[in-house]
Amino acid sequence: MPGEVTAAADLDEAERSRILAKTARFAPPPARDADGRLDLVGLSRAELAAALADIGEAPFRAKQVWHWIYYQGATDFARMTTIARDGRERLAARFVVGRPREATVQTAADSTRKWLFSFRDGQQAETVYIPGREKDRGAVCVSSQVGCTLSCRFCHTGTQELARNLGAGEIVGQFLAARDAYGEWPSPQGETPRLLSTVVLMGMGEPLYNFEAVAGAVRILMDPEGIGLSRRRITLSTSGVVPMMDRCGAELGINLAVSLHAVRDELRDELVPLNRKYPLRELLTACRRYPGSSNARRITFEYIMLKGVNDSDADARELVRLIAGLPAKVNLIPFNPWPGSPFATSTPAAVARFAAIVNAAGFSSPVRAPRGRDILAACGQLRTASGRQGTRGAA
Ligand code: SAH
Ligand code: SF4
Repeated sequence: MPGEVTAAADLDEAERSRILAKTARFAPPPARDADGRLDLVGLSRAELAAALADIGEAPFRAKQVWHWIYYQGATDFARMTTIARDGRERLAARFVVGRPREATVQTAADSTRKWLFSFRDGQQAETVYIPGREKDRGAVCVSSQVGCTLSCRFCHTGTQELARNLGAGEIVGQFLAARDAYGEWPSPQGETPRLLSTVVLMGMGEPLYNFEAVAGAVRILMDPEGIGLSRRRITLSTSGVVPMMDRCGAELGINLAVSLHAVRDELRDELVPLNRKYPLRELLTACRRYPGSSNARRITFEYIMLKGVNDSDADARELVRLIAGLPAKVNLIPFNPWPGSPFATSTPAAVARFAAIVNAAGFSSPVRAPRGRDILAACGQLRTASGRQGTRGAA
């Protein structure tokens, strides 16, 4: 009935407002250095133009500065040689082009690299670079929050309370700093090979609980006059924040990965407690609505393989039933253990059987090879020490 549809839409809107209000409670500190200079990284093009207009700069200045920051990778105004010297000095007096500080960096036996980055207030988050099997390809896994409000049972980040959200500049800053480390400046254009060729929002935190900042960072990554990553090369992973999934699709159009992990509500309630709020039926309905999903752009369902918990043939068959008709692929993730984790990884035979059932139903079902396990850089192993900023509660 139309009335019911409107009521549901109003409910979604109310939920979205509630989520955004909560996001604001965990806002990052202002992006200013101790001397008061504003960090330009993370500002949208309009915000950058406004900041420059504030000190009397002409509108074309924003385009130049944008190019230097995101195309050339400059962090020093003195390098911005298309701007006259007095202009560069004016900019340097008021602004900085920041980077998160590299607290530690570790490289695993398989070349996966993990950084621990510190931000202005000392909060820290981890970023991982996963080199591709082919040369000149690789994924950067960035964090969106320090900690997480959700407590998925298998996830190391989930044992760390949410300290705060990261700002757009801190999110895109992780990518910029990783780029610095590999010296990949200026930005390769178009589809030319890139070492840092894809971005996955699969680090610490739930990106859809920090949507505005994540969206700001994603828009910067996609801007053709800077980094210029195509939206097909950016994937956001969510544990299933249903009311925000529509916005992600409509406003960003990037790839969506959904952390499914269980095919019955009783089990998913336990493994991914957010399921109590947004159960499987609602989650899959939101997936079916996700715009632009087609065979070319399939939704990825992530499914962690936990020995004796969710890895039976019956689970595989139910999974196929749930996603029937959806343009989807299933990424099977062998559980990556961490100190004190309560699960074991499914046997290779169980994973292979599960994959075969899903595959026979017409869904591609690659098994994600664990990368960087020796430095706790694999999926779900990220965790930092953090102080608590706000009070924790069900999100
Ligand atoms: N909060 C988002 C994104 C970060 S987690 C989400 O949950 O989707 C990125 C992926 O790693 C998710 O699919 C998550 O379920 C998975 N993951 C978490 N802990 C893991 C572990 N110990 N081993 C393997 N994958 C894990
Ligand atoms: Fe948070 Fe994702 Fe970890 Fe769940 S799996 S606790 S949503 S980071």
